Amino acid sequence: MEAREEAIKDTATSKERQTTMELENQLNQITLEDEDDEPLEVEDSDVDVLLMEAVRRLGLIGRLLAEKEPNMKSMKIALSKAWKLKKGFQITELGDMLFAFQFLDMDDRNKVCYEDPWHYENSLIVFKASTTIQKPKPEDLHMINLWIRVEGLPAEMRTQKMAEKIASRFEGLDWFDNGAGTMWDDYMRLRVYMSINNPLKKKIKLNNSGQLVEYPIKYEKLPMFCYSCGRIGHPKLRCKV
Ligand SMILES: [Zn+2]
Repeated sequence: MEAREEAIKDTATSKERQTTMELENQLNQITLEDEDDEPLEVEDSDVDVLLMEAVRRLGLIGRLLAEKEPNMKSMKIALSKAWKLKKGFQITELGDMLFAFQFLDMDDRNKVCYEDPWHYENSLIVFKASTTIQKPKPEDLHMINLWIRVEGLPAEMRTQKMAEKIASRFEGLDWFDNGAGTMWDDYMRLRVYMSINNPLKKKIKLNNSGQLVEYPIKYEKLPMFCYSCGRIGHPKLRCKV
């Protein structure tokens, strides 16, 4: 019975495909030029500026690094609990594990944007600001921010310049926490941009006037990562590197 249903479905799909192909063929046979093929000018008044502004200021695109589609209702409940926003938000499924998040308040949106990484059921969500109302390619969403600690770095070396130098071994410096602890604490704290395409670093090597010293790196709120390739976003079992 099931096989028969499948067969009927297949026939329907191939019929649809055939019809589309026939239409394309018919269009190719038209040799007449379009009469009014002057391009239409797009003017400012044709563009919904308010909608664009709302997307830019209140929208984010998220990529969920999970194997299977989430239950939208459960994901919204879980994220509401984690974010504790002043006002609400909406999620729209875009396909390919991408989701459009629309917030009602700019502070709420910024909180989500600047306090990442975020997860749903142990899977990382990579966020990106949206400047256009177009679905991005999933692989374009690969940058996250992470707080790291450079363990044992002497207090006199915990400067903005050193933070920038260390962050250059990642994808750049987002924030240097120069108020982290006291000078007797044993680490420097900074927030770096990191691509999930690159493996996590375990240490930073410094050459101090010919003396080579290695400082271990510790990660705060480290998302799930792969013990095989050292990349964030998938477990060892799903490693394709
Ligand atoms: Zn891996």
